[in-house]
Amino acid sequence: MYWEKEIETLPREKLDALQAERLKATLRQAARSPHYGRVFRETGFSPGDFNSLADVPKLPLTTKDDLRENWPYGFLAVPREELVRMHSSSGTTGRATVIFHTAGDLDAWTNLVARCMYMTGVRKADVFQNMMTYGLFTGGLGFHYGAERIGCLVIPAGAGNSKRQIQLMQDFETTVIHIIPSYALHLTGVFEELEVDPRKDTKVRIAFVGAEPHTEKTRKRIEEYYGWKAFNSYGLSEMNGPGVAFECTAQNGLHIWEDNFLVEILDPETLKPVPDGEEGELVMTTLRREGMPIVRYRTKDLTRILPGPCECGRTHRRIERLKGRTDDMMILKGVNIFPIQIEKKLLDIPGVGMNFLIVLERKGFNDEMIVKVEVAREFFDGDLLKLQKLQRRITEELKGDILITPKVELAEPGSLPKTEGKAVRVIDNRKD
Ligand code: ADP
Ligand code: ZN
Repeated sequence: MYWEKEIETLPREKLDALQAERLKATLRQAARSPHYGRVFRETGFSPGDFNSLADVPKLPLTTKDDLRENWPYGFLAVPREELVRMHSSSGTTGRATVIFHTAGDLDAWTNLVARCMYMTGVRKADVFQNMMTYGLFTGGLGFHYGAERIGCLVIPAGAGNSKRQIQLMQDFETTVIHIIPSYALHLTGVFEELEVDPRKDTKVRIAFVGAEPHTEKTRKRIEEYYGWKAFNSYGLSEMNGPGVAFECTAQNGLHIWEDNFLVEILDPETLKPVPDGEEGELVMTTLRREGMPIVRYRTKDLTRILPGPCECGRTHRRIERLKGRTDDMMILKGVNIFPIQIEKKLLDIPGVGMNFLIVLERKGFNDEMIVKVEVAREFFDGDLLKLQKLQRRITEELKGDILITPKVELAEPGSLPKTEGKAVRVIDNRKD
């Protein structure tokens, strides 16, 4: 079943007991894989030594490199003939990693995605247009099967082809979509070009936005422009893909499904748990996977647990909107900067458009940050003074926040490079 009120509102003690029981089974299952079999042997920890959640810190951590080193089948805990599907990560930070599923794994994953969608109000009568890349990427098939499980009419549109997307939306009266947030911002320009008013000329009411970091401001822009409710969807291929953590209608943090995942927030340097409510690296363990269980996976994604209960009544804890990966952090002149900080500042400035790009250069011993920003068309009417004023304002605002002075270049709407998948926000041309 994908919608189980009882599971979603399970009291903490019961949730903890369920996690401990599932973790014990997961460890036994994991020990069958070549990788964990070896790790358990080497560390002298056997799954039989696990008694309660208090033992979790004794368990081995798993990294993307472990997955890469065990390419392709070193994490399998079942015979290969039991597998029915393979997916992979997007390879945003290096060689992609692969994940395998049994039929049971796919069923559990599908239920999770359906649970997320149902939570935001998606029902059988909805028409769901999935604007994510199909294929190895999990955002396509993951959402596809989730929506089918609810009984929606699914349009597997795939990514890109903006004009056709809008046409499909209109012709088939799409009510729910799944879209990458940077692409949703880009699509505003296409709606304008086609003179289609998304509020009047389409029936879309819900958008799932995710797969990449984005700020609250980006969500607001999407909601204001389109009139959609936009819900943040977080997932990663190593933990299935979408369906890991999702916003409810309170839109205040993402419920992370603790009946399927054990959640820890660790200090990325010391690898010790951070105090409650503080930011750190999200570390997760699969609690139901048969084919490829993963223990204490270091996601490199930075977030924190939001304190207190959610107004919706669900007991599964909430994580804050993700800040980005530890890998995304840029170090310039000794200052640590996340692309999301730049996004936050930029979108506050009137006239700033829908896309930006950060380029890092090394000039002699100096690092330089160039921020290319699309701004509204009206700034390109030949009034150079107006343009310079905006450029100065952006420079000052950024400097005030990130403490270094970037070189700001203003660009016309739609002129900066865009991708159909996750946006590339930083180009680092510095050579070591
Ligand atoms: P890759 O790790 O190669 O990008 P995946 O397709 O598995 O491959 O992507 C998962 C990653 O995408 C997450 O670890 C996270 O960094 C990012 N991500 C996914 N959803 C969100 C979201 N809603 N907010 C921020 N980052 C996200
Ligand atoms: Zn909630």
